[in-house]
Amino acid sequence: MNNEEPPRRSLSVRGRLLSVTGIAVLASLLVWHGQLADFLGFGSPGDKAPVVAGAGAPDTTALPTEGDVPVSEPTSTPTPRPKPTKPPKKKPKPTKSPTTSQNGPYDEESTEGMSPKLRSRLLKAMAAAKADGVTLRINSGRRSAAKQRRLLDEAIVKYGSYKAAIRWVLPPEFSEHVKGRAVDITPAAGAKWLELNGYRYGICRRYDNEPWHFEALTTPGRKCPAREPYALAK
Ligand SMILES: [Zn+2]
Repeated sequence: MNNEEPPRRSLSVRGRLLSVTGIAVLASLLVWHGQLADFLGFGSPGDKAPVVAGAGAPDTTALPTEGDVPVSEPTSTPTPRPKPTKPPKKKPKPTKSPTTSQNGPYDEESTEGMSPKLRSRLLKAMAAAKADGVTLRINSGRRSAAKQRRLLDEAIVKYGSYKAAIRWVLPPEFSEHVKGRAVDITPAAGAKWLELNGYRYGICRRYDNEPWHFEALTTPGRKCPAREPYALAK
């Protein structure tokens, strides 16, 4: 029993020493770890602010790249701008009937889509002309806004400016053709007949520069109003 005690004490002492050294080592490790953690910046909660700030640092570096995007966009936008796909739209049109496809649902060379007033008056005038041996044909009656726009675009090219073009082709929002309240008559002899006799049916030539253009401008049998020099966008 006695022989056993000293070794036990020595063992206990050794154990204590070992434990002490172990604690010391652990403590030093903890301290070193703490220093390392402090150094690295993620040790204590208080250090997390710098860590966030450190994480924010990459964000600040990312901000310039985000700023570069708007800077690069203006330089890149000019290239996407010339993308208008107008040419493809014109291609399928020639395959269809030119008159109906360009003019929507109405046959432009008929009384389709005309106002009831113009249509009834024009039919009476055409019957009277036929009785006189004169042919009246509808060259252009009701037009779609798209057709009117296209005609205006062509007129701008032909006459050199918008201001000059609208004397011949009004914008869709002002055109009586688009409203179904105007008709262009062909041939010239037929238009001349209608200019002289149209008032009987309430139909009048409106413009000096367009001998073919007629509208229902007066009461049947009454004199037509004075002609206008040319069309005005009003
Ligand atoms: Zn006209």
